[in-house]
Amino acid sequence: MTRVAVIGLGAMGSRIARRLAGNGHDVVGWNRTPREVGVPLAATARDAAERAEVVITMLADPEALEAVTDDVLAGLHGTLVEMSTVGPAAIARLAERTTNLVDAPVLGSIAEAESGGLTLFAGGDVAPVRPMLEQLGTVLEVGPVGSGAAAKLVANAALFGVLAALGDAVALGRTLDLDEQTLFDVLATTPLAAQGERRRAVLQGEPSPPRFPVRLAAKDARLILEHGDFGVIEAALRALEAADANADYTALLNEPSRAAAARRRSS
Ligand code: NAP
Repeated sequence: MTRVAVIGLGAMGSRIARRLAGNGHDVVGWNRTPREVGVPLAATARDAAERAEVVITMLADPEALEAVTDDVLAGLHGTLVEMSTVGPAAIARLAERTTNLVDAPVLGSIAEAESGGLTLFAGGDVAPVRPMLEQLGTVLEVGPVGSGAAAKLVANAALFGVLAALGDAVALGRTLDLDEQTLFDVLATTPLAAQGERRRAVLQGEPSPPRFPVRLAAKDARLILEHGDFGVIEAALRALEAADANADYTALLNEPSRAAAARRRSS
């Protein structure tokens, strides 16, 4: 049993806190907007950190992490496990202020956080916290502190790139008046086969519950673009920026400007 503080009780943090509590850890939570999530709450982030051997931060973006850092570090006496997707620059700033840091952003969403099916890209000296992190999912040790954040951006670049390509391929097929079934039969013969099948319902207009919202995906695309002019990610970001910020990020598949662009070219 470990005394754990979870700072940030949003969609992911609340589930991580509950899962760790369910595994017998002594969990205390803190959220900027007080929120009942089924674990005891501390009055401040500092108070939460003071009560814990391991502090997990699971916050929206680099600005949110920055906003809580002074408070968390003031109370920290154990290991800080930073799990938000904030990119390597934010982790480097944090690493200048504490050496007791593991960066472990996650792949997988709400269902995986509940079931312990996340993939954690862990950078730094993971060994002391590894047994606890393994209760959240598969831990992939990727290198020194900061590598976790780097690995997570690579994973999301792959994901966004594939979805952008899939959205374009489907828009093209429809612009060329391919029969809908034929379109998906064709996709099944391509490197996009698995994603074509998995995203078919969304591509055909079925609503997707907002698990990983557009606003967070757009933040990740911008973090990726801090490191180069990646054309595919720029295209994905344009589609995300045109979509409803609170929709699920798979909205980028159906972003109407994609089909309009395909039609413009073919007319
Ligand atoms: P979320 O539901 O939007 O929760 C964001 C959390 O950040 C909330 O606790 C929020 O507090 C807090 N926050 C935002 N601005 C803050 C500030 N200025 N000061 C203090 N706290 C602040 O997001 P999430 O889905 O849990 O995602 C958390 C992180 O995991 C993000 O980096 C995201 O990219 C990453 N991630 C998400 C998913 C997913 O499927 N959702 C999957 C993998 C990775 P309030 O409640 O007070 O606003």
